Amino acid sequence: MLNAISIDLEDWFCVYNFSSYIKREDWCKQELRVVQNTERLLDLFDKYGTKATFFVLGWIAEVVPELITKIEEQGHEIASHGYSHSLITEITPDYFDNDIKKALEVTRKCVKQKIRGFRAPSFTVTKKTLWALDILADNGIEYDSSVFPVGFHPDYGISDAPLSVYKINEKIIEVPLSVVEIFGKRIPCSGGGYFRQFPYSLTKYLMKKCNNAGRPVIFYIHPWEIDAEQPKINLPFIKKIRHYNNLNKTYGRLEKLLKDFRFVPVKEIIN
Ligand SMILES: [Zn+2]
Repeated sequence: MLNAISIDLEDWFCVYNFSSYIKREDWCKQELRVVQNTERLLDLFDKYGTKATFFVLGWIAEVVPELITKIEEQGHEIASHGYSHSLITEITPDYFDNDIKKALEVTRKCVKQKIRGFRAPSFTVTKKTLWALDILADNGIEYDSSVFPVGFHPDYGISDAPLSVYKINEKIIEVPLSVVEIFGKRIPCSGGGYFRQFPYSLTKYLMKKCNNAGRPVIFYIHPWEIDAEQPKINLPFIKKIRHYNNLNKTYGRLEKLLKDFRFVPVKEIIN
């Protein structure tokens, strides 16, 4: 079965987990590591003939436009992750409209392909922010991959959302992040923190279960998750584990994943 692999293209300091420690206006003072990390990912994808979807943060496209052009030239899909990494749950519709417009404007300058997809920072398309989908459609977006169909997370999730690709409103196709149902509980199997924190054998087991249920896995990862050398900031214990745990293991696990499963860009899962 064909699965989809996606990269939320941002740097280590853009994450919501750090938002009260590194302010957005100070991003430009941080050590930029996204280029070298993304190039390592591109090399790995090239080795296995894998094409992916890169949900590009507009701020990154503005700072290193040549990286986005290079990603496209290597045959990958370019989609949007917004401009400023603001959670939709924390902003107004006007703010979101300006943010996606700015993101698309800077990202379109780097590439030739039509940008069709969007992923919200921290998966914040929830029941309270469904208004964002009309704004996405008005800005020419055709699919969204932001709904996490779970109910346990404090920041995101729609607990009763469909598990397969579906039409979330008249104009937008939703490609939800992957979960499998075990004893009535929805367990994520879509990458990111779940991939990094738990053993690879668990991810592999859950992904196979998802495929056996007839659904492709929609997998995601961030460039900073393969970077054990990134600058360290002082964080409370939980935040520290969430960001820094197993950074040295993720690249090797990703290579195993590319050997064990077949991946295509998200747009091909919709087609
Ligand atoms: Zn993000």
